[in-house]
Amino acid sequence: MAPSVAIVGAGFGGLCMAIQLERAGIRSYTVFEKAGDLGGTWRDNSYPGAGCDIPSHLYSYSFEKYASWSRRYPEQPEILEYLEHCADKYHVREKIRFGTEVRRAVFDGTRWQVTTPGGTEAFDVLVMGVGQLNRPRLPDIPGMADFEGVSFHSARWDHEHDISGRRVAVIGNGSSAAQLIPRVAERAEHLYVFQRTPNWVIPKPDATFGPLTRLAFHYVPGLQRAYREWIYRYAEGTLYPALSEGWSTGLLKQRALRHLRDQVPDPGLRARLTPDYPPGCKRVVIDSSFYPALTRPNVSLVTDKIVRVTAKGIETTEGPYEVDTIVYATGFKSTEFLVPMEVVGRGGRSLEERWDKGAEAYLGISVPGFPNMFMLYGPNTNLGHNSIIFMIECQVNHVMSCLPYLAGSGPIEVRAEVMAAWRRRLDAAMAGMVWGAGCQSWYKTASGRVTNNWPGTTTLYRRLTARPPQPAYRPTGPAG
Ligand code: NAP
Repeated sequence: MAPSVAIVGAGFGGLCMAIQLERAGIRSYTVFEKAGDLGGTWRDNSYPGAGCDIPSHLYSYSFEKYASWSRRYPEQPEILEYLEHCADKYHVREKIRFGTEVRRAVFDGTRWQVTTPGGTEAFDVLVMGVGQLNRPRLPDIPGMADFEGVSFHSARWDHEHDISGRRVAVIGNGSSAAQLIPRVAERAEHLYVFQRTPNWVIPKPDATFGPLTRLAFHYVPGLQRAYREWIYRYAEGTLYPALSEGWSTGLLKQRALRHLRDQVPDPGLRARLTPDYPPGCKRVVIDSSFYPALTRPNVSLVTDKIVRVTAKGIETTEGPYEVDTIVYATGFKSTEFLVPMEVVGRGGRSLEERWDKGAEAYLGISVPGFPNMFMLYGPNTNLGHNSIIFMIECQVNHVMSCLPYLAGSGPIEVRAEVMAAWRRRLDAAMAGMVWGAGCQSWYKTASGRVTNNWPGTTTLYRRLTARPPQPAYRPTGPAG
């Protein structure tokens, strides 16, 4: 009998898992989704200008070609449409329990007891598809509650609030801020961009696909596949030159500095926008309209330190800024992974205890002591150079390869010594990458451990995840 599978989250990861189970004829699964709609991060991030800086044909499932992409880099509504299309085409929507948050999951020695507000149900397998960027992080600035205007996080955009003619503050200048700032600047009376640390920015060579191109993608055999392969190979080739420490990162730096020079004529503004850490240490912003927005007369870049939020705006070390809207584009609680879910594995040990020094998992997927539990887009599987959807597909394929094994042997878990070897391998590979260099980023914990990024090629990751589960896994056994 096919194992029963609980999938948590109906974003790119959870949907991919559900689709592959459907394709394998396994219908004994349930997708738990806390929100009322599917789409994960692409449902939540609906701010003006939201989109992806990985090309459409690569930021999609390899098994579901889509001829409808209207542009090279997809915008949020189109990505959401694509996910809706996939959910319907593969009949997984009816298996999603919307508005059902998983609060707790406990391994009882044989199965996972999954608790939602509606009660507790048992499943053989637990697949976590909640990703890395699902919980907005509001900053801890004194006085935020005193603000009398309207404020919200970029991932919780208040669409009821019209920003036309308003005085707006955006706190943060990462990838989300860079996308929304140009759109807000077009409508606001004045926009203050509060930058704590400048980012490296490179151009985004976007283009729309005309009707002929779209027809060609639809009808010319092999064209989409060849185009996807070409983008993939190109992206893959940028990993070591751009993100490993060494002379070649200078090329990325030169490219970013040229982009800054081309788009920002004022040397004073350019100086304030120039980072003092190696490019790639924080996520490089890929955008062609961010810098031009900062040169508009109704936009001011503020680099003074924020002291507090007041009833009327934001006070910095240099004085007050009166605004009626504050957008917190301040990122996500990225290193906490499955928090606030309580996950308790073998022997009553919680994942929180297991991860007291930072999250880690074999292949970013499995944790010793947590039998039959698998993560998608888990620890050390984020990329700075290629498509996360590729990684998710590798992870789902890995889980699929584990299912016959656990169906035959009972619960399985990754061996502790395999996890230890994996940690050593990651540490060695990580030492050569730029993420550890002198910057703070969402890739690492406060103590500096890089818990989010994968320090290798995606081709290598595919090879490692394609290995059969034995001998890395073992049956947990009756003592489990
Ligand atoms: P982020 O990269 O973590 O940026 C957060 C920003 O908020 C930073 O500029 C940070 O400054 C600032 N900030 C945080 N706390 C602050 C405080 N107390 N005072 C002042 N500034 C503060 O978050 P994000 O822009 O939402 O992007 C997160 C990730 O989502 C991206 O790196 C990317 O992987 C993904 N994303 C992807 C796309 C895409 O096109 N593929 C688009 C959007 C987002 P510091 O730098 O000084 O910490």
